[in-house]
Order: sequence, then C-alpha cells, then structure tokens
Amino acid sequence: MSELFPLSPRAADLKSRLEAFMAAHVLPAEAGIAAHAADPATRWSVPPVVEALKAKARAEGLWNLFLPDPARGAGLSNLEYAPLAEVMGRSLVAPEVFNCNAPDTGNMEVLLHYGSPQQQARWLGPLLEGRIRSAFAMTEPEVASSDATNIAATITRDGDDYVVDGRKWWTTGATDPRCAVFIVMGVSNPDAEPHRRHAMILVPRDAPGVTVVRPLHVFGYDDAPHGHAEVRFDRVRVPADHLIVGEGRGFEIAQGRLGPGRIHHCMRLVGLAQRALEAMIERARTRVAFGRPLAAHGMAQEAIALSRCEIEQARLLTLAAAAQLDRLGIKGAKDAIGMIKIVAPRMACAVIDRAIQLHGGLGLSSDSFLAHAYAAARALRLADGPDEVHIAALAKSMTRGAEGAR
Ligand SMILES: Cc1cc2nc3c(=O)[nH]c(=O)nc-3n(C[C@H](O)[C@H](O)[C@H](O)COP(=O)(O)OP(=O)(O)OC[C@H]3O[C@@H](n4cnc5c(N)ncnc54)[C@H](O)[C@@H]3O)c2cc1C
Repeated sequence: MSELFPLSPRAADLKSRLEAFMAAHVLPAEAGIAAHAADPATRWSVPPVVEALKAKARAEGLWNLFLPDPARGAGLSNLEYAPLAEVMGRSLVAPEVFNCNAPDTGNMEVLLHYGSPQQQARWLGPLLEGRIRSAFAMTEPEVASSDATNIAATITRDGDDYVVDGRKWWTTGATDPRCAVFIVMGVSNPDAEPHRRHAMILVPRDAPGVTVVRPLHVFGYDDAPHGHAEVRFDRVRVPADHLIVGEGRGFEIAQGRLGPGRIHHCMRLVGLAQRALEAMIERARTRVAFGRPLAAHGMAQEAIALSRCEIEQARLLTLAAAAQLDRLGIKGAKDAIGMIKIVAPRMACAVIDRAIQLHGGLGLSSDSFLAHAYAAARALRLADGPDEVHIAALAKSMTRGAEGAR
C-alpha cells in the first residue's frame, strides 16, 4: 500500500482481519464454489458455503464495510474503504461474503439516500442483512444505453399504480434465486427535457409480468447463480409508492448511485490485478524454459516490472479519487472518478493478459483463476459506462469554454 495514503488505525485493523479471513476461508472455498456452479444440477442455486461464510464474516464485524453511514454501515471514508475493497477484489467470490458486492451496494446507497421510510424498511433492511439480493435494470438491447437519455422503457401512472413496460438486458443479479427486487429505470415524463424524463422504480421480482428471459454470457462465463440476464417487464403493475423520490428524478439518482460504485469496482480491480501479478511472479520463479527460469528471461521480467508499475499507478489514482470523493463529494470528484474508471479496467486487462501469457495454456484454462478474472475485468470497460463515455466526459470537463466543445 502506498505510503502516500497511510491507513487509519481502524482501517489497518480491518485490513489485517480481512486478509486473514480471505486466506483462511475465502480462497480455500473458491474451487468448491466453482464446482457447484459447473454442476448442472446445482448451477443456479446458492452454494451453501457462501451463506456460511457470510454469517461468519458478519459475526466478525467484516460486514457492509462499503457504507460510509455509521448507523447502517461501517462508517468508513472512501479512502479507508479503498484498501479493504482491494483485498476483497482479489477473489471474484469475496465481495458477496462481506456484503460488499455490486449491484447490491449501489442499490443500498440509492435506498439509503433516496428511499422512503417504507421502501427502506421493506428492502434496505434485508439487503443490509444479506437476506435478499437486488438488481439494477437500466440497459436495454434496443437502444444505445451508454447514453442513458435513450432509455425507452416506460413507467406510467395509472390510478394508484405505476405500470412498467420494457425490455432490459445485462441486469446483473437477476438470475440469483435470492434476488427480490429490481430498481428499474424508465421514462416517466416523455415531454420533459432529456435529463428530467426518466424515473426509477422498485419492482418486486415476483410481480406479475416480470420475466427473466435468459442468462447472458461474458466470453462463456455466466457467473451463475448471480448472473447477468435479459429481463422483460410486460405491463408490470406496482403501487405508486414504489417510485423512488419522484417522477423525472432518474438521472439525479443515477449520478448518486454511480459515484462511489464506480470507484469500488476500480479498488477491486487493483486487488485482482495484484493477485494476477503475484501468480505471474510465482510462475516465473518456478517454470523453467530454455534452460532458465522464466524470471531470468528479459521479456518475462518486463511483463512483471511493467505490471507492478501500472498497478501502483492505478492504486494511487484510485486512492486519490477516493480522497477527493470524501473531501469534495461526487460532483467535486467527478473528473477523478472518471479518470480511474478509464484507467483501472484497462490496467487490469493488461496485467491479467500478461499473467495469462506467462502461464501458457494453463492461463487460458478454467484450472487457473486468470481467464475468469480477465472476463470480469474486460466487462468493466463497459459496465457502468464504456471507456469512451468517460473519456468524452473528462475531455469535455477539461476543455469547457473552448469553441465547439459542449
Ligand atoms: C458484465 C456486465 C454487467 C452489466 N451489468 C449491468 C447492470 O447490472 N445493469 C445495467 O443496467 N447495465 C449493466 N451492464 C450494461 C452496461 O452498463 C452497458 O453495456 C454499457 O453502458 C453500454 O451500453 P450498450 O451496451 O447499450 O452500448 P452502446 O450504448 O450501444 O455503446 C456501444 C459502444 O459505442 C461506443 N460509444 C458510446 N458512446 C461513445 C462516445 N461518446 N464516443 C465514442 N464512442 C462511443 C463505445 O465503444 C460503446 O461501447 C452490464 C454490462 C456487462 C458487460
């Protein structure tokens, strides 16, 4: 960890306990969880070990660490949380164990900041306890969803209800048997200006008209049982009090949701890349080719050294963005959050790709964690907005006032 951002005593204590928990319980469980997901008989069910580890983590106080609210969560700053998320990010199964997994974290923040007391009682409480899971349904197959003003699903008032209509996809978590609620984005005010046209509404998973059509695959990985799904909402009727804050407020909520969420992904990617680098080093030390360990070959040395540089660069930028978020809020930290969202997934893809290369055929196989890690990192160049959208927004912010820049 960088000396520039020393850990607070509380964060240091949590970090060492998290590391011990990861080593003793999470990493040894990975193979069993993968075997559970590979078996067609159990594929879409929750591995019992996950629930057992959640209970254990909660009992040890390693729970809801992402939530800065001291009454409901751990009360850590983003800067304190960053190194903890890095530790969790080393394993794709770990964030759930500590109730710090997307999209539930972002959804919990939405409910905390924008939810009514009734919405909080019904959904936030069980989510904070890890009893249910949730999904966030914004992206649609029919429109370029990187420009969210295009979102075309509708949320229409009808008497005491709203009627939700539309087709979504890449709805992460929708296939999870514990998924109890969706936050759905759709058009509530078609005649308003583009950023006041949309609303967000809570739709119970079991509401008539909700159909989880199929799981989608990222390079063949479906991330069962959690999954990323195509979902249809066919004239789904929900009581009017399921709307979050009000009609036309969808963009306001989306901004609040994605500020911390984006850097949580980046913090975890630093951890995933770090684990790939450690695997690379181990491989280079022990694998002998052309009479010497790989570590003695210049090209392997370059792969290792460059990876260390790039991880440390991204780590520092992540910590800087977290510090700005704490100090200036989401608006003030917008450029820093954008920068790390551009940098971290690319860095992780580059590092994991080098690790795959150094592992030879093993690296591409499911006998190693690297192939799945690459798929997860690559997806994050798209999820929460593609690189290009963040690059365009950053450039726009930097050139404001220049002729032709909007
Ligand atoms: C694994 C995974 C999980 C996801 N989870 C969720 C989820 O839980 N909920 C949810 O709602 N969505 C989720 N998404 C969807 C994701 O957020 C969208 O795929 C993303 O926002 C892009 O939208 P799109 O696919 O419609 O691409 P489009 O909007 O069609 O964009 C396609 C491409 O156009 C280019 N482009 C766009 N804008 C510009 C620009 N300004 N300049 C230059 N080029 C540009 C980019 O290369 C972009 O990738 C997930 C995606 C993945 C892969």
